[in-house]
Amino acid sequence: MNDLKSPALLKSCSFINGQWQEALDKFDVYNPANNEVIAQISEVSAEQIDNAIEAASVAQKKWQQKTSFQRAEILQNWSALIDQHQDDLALIMTREQGKTLPDAKGEIIYGKGFIDWFAEEAKRIYSDTTSNHIEHKSVQTIKQPIGVVGAITPWNFPNAMITRKAAAALAAGCSFVVKPASETPLSALALAELARQAGIPDGVFNVIVGTNSQKIGEQLTTHKKINKFTFTGSTKVGKLLNKQCANSIKKVSLELGGNAPFIVFDDANIEHAVDALVAAKLRNCGQTCISPNRVYLQHNIASTFKTKLVAALKQIKQGNGECQDSQIACLIHKKAAEKVHQLAESAIKNGGKLIHGGLTKSPDSSFYPITVIDEVPHGIDITQCEIFGPLFTLITFNEEREVIDQANDTEFGLASYIFTENANRVYRVTTALEYGMIGVNDSAISHPIAPFGGIKHSGFGKEGSKYGLDDYLIIKAVTQKFYHQ
Ligand code: NAP
Repeated sequence: MNDLKSPALLKSCSFINGQWQEALDKFDVYNPANNEVIAQISEVSAEQIDNAIEAASVAQKKWQQKTSFQRAEILQNWSALIDQHQDDLALIMTREQGKTLPDAKGEIIYGKGFIDWFAEEAKRIYSDTTSNHIEHKSVQTIKQPIGVVGAITPWNFPNAMITRKAAAALAAGCSFVVKPASETPLSALALAELARQAGIPDGVFNVIVGTNSQKIGEQLTTHKKINKFTFTGSTKVGKLLNKQCANSIKKVSLELGGNAPFIVFDDANIEHAVDALVAAKLRNCGQTCISPNRVYLQHNIASTFKTKLVAALKQIKQGNGECQDSQIACLIHKKAAEKVHQLAESAIKNGGKLIHGGLTKSPDSSFYPITVIDEVPHGIDITQCEIFGPLFTLITFNEEREVIDQANDTEFGLASYIFTENANRVYRVTTALEYGMIGVNDSAISHPIAPFGGIKHSGFGKEGSKYGLDDYLIIKAVTQKFYHQ
């Protein structure tokens, strides 16, 4: 990693109270494309985590006293530095996470978008004064920062899953302690270095890195000075952390797994739907929570759609994320590729037909080829869990009601997509789908302006949009009696 333009972005230990804190125990970070060790990182200790929370608690009291305009100015400095260093940040991300450089750069810009957005939104935290409900009485509300925020984030978006939370928290006047995934600590630490350079005060933004996620999670979810806990990751871990938060009655928000249906009706623009599917499914090699997991094709257009889809996929070049001509790269590790492989094999055993790609996979590689399986029976494993890889599963349907029922037949409720030119159908289907987000003739659904978040086992809370600050604020009611002279 000695080819960064700014080597100072490469850090090897936790960032606590404005200081880089080394420790004796180390863990390795691997490049998933070739399994080489790219960094050795200090394991955060229990004592260091306590220090981070204490420091965040002290720093928060001062941070909340700054005006929203002052906080916005500091956040904007952070955003400008991220912009200035986007090439290095993208290279660090590609090396630790595997995604292609254009995907990595896209994430840096997307992640910085939340900082820009919330720097402005913080200036628009409005309170209410109600009209008198009883003579000589008024009720006012005061919105205030909730306090110290603990966060745990995943490896699939090592930058943006942090900024989407931290920008809202800091803008609202909270302080922040985040544990990123142990596969991708470097992107988080680089963000911390830029936060320091931007003038975010010591203790307001802390990054703790380590592999003992269970212990770190316990500390963050049970510490009495953490007022709010926010998590992005799998539903399984989210449920556990939610339980752990219960005893100390923390405010919680959870951004969990998905199982997105992608429904193409026979009145859709097929070329447009194919392009949208390829873009959404292959982003980050299929490792996104909003990735189309089940593709439902209405009977009349299914054959045309498949022909066009396979033709488009044949043009895609897969390779190391650092190569200029790679359009998709590898998965996060060998185990992830093995899981996708097993799902593909099981789908074929259960009646699915392989129409593109292959079931060949080297046991030592994190690469998995783009694969399409047709005639997947609804209800088998692959239609019920997150695939998280470049594996397309196609299901044919006849009636609108039938596809709505199948689409909703999952514990998840994060993203969904419909393609149709019929305005009446848009209304009927969007109101019937049990999902937190619905793309209509659109698969690029995530943007700072739109509320991101799921329902059912995909979690609760919204990130981004005008609602994104709510999770980091408390509302007090002030009831006042007054007398006329
Ligand atoms: P994961 O296994 O749940 O891990 C997520 C984070 O939780 C990591 O930092 C991990 O740390 C930590 N963790 C794991 N076990 C823990 C425990 N027992 N206690 C405390 N922390 C624990 O999920 P992942 O595989 O990294 O991420 C993929 C999942 O995230 C998918 O399900 C995806 O859909 C979901 N996701 C959701 C959204 C959304 O906005 N809804 C966005 C992105 C991803 P270590 O890495 O150190 O184990």
